[in-house]
Amino acid sequence: MPKVKVCFICGVIDKESDKSLFYIPLGKLEEWQKIIAKPGLTRASRLCEAHFEKSEIHKGTQVGNDFVPATRNRLLTKNVVPTKNLAGNLKTD
Ligand SMILES: [Zn+2]
Repeated sequence: MPKVKVCFICGVIDKESDKSLFYIPLGKLEEWQKIIAKPGLTRASRLCEAHFEKSEIHKGTQVGNDFVPATRNRLLTKNVVPTKNLAGNLKTD
């Protein structure tokens, strides 16, 4: 059975979606709990990419004219905090 992707704020994400989920960086749980209004954030919680600036997410590497996607998206820095769509009212872009 495929693993269900669950974002702490959005809920279940369509498994066909290419949205990436991110764990909370080590030592950042308390800080993130203050930022995210919804109670219950834990170390096991994950947030999807809708809550981060696109510039904070590493999706791959530009090599000349080609974009080589990373095998696994990751957050660029340990200090990144979620800034977008924190109330769960996702707007599509
Ligand atoms: Zn989300």
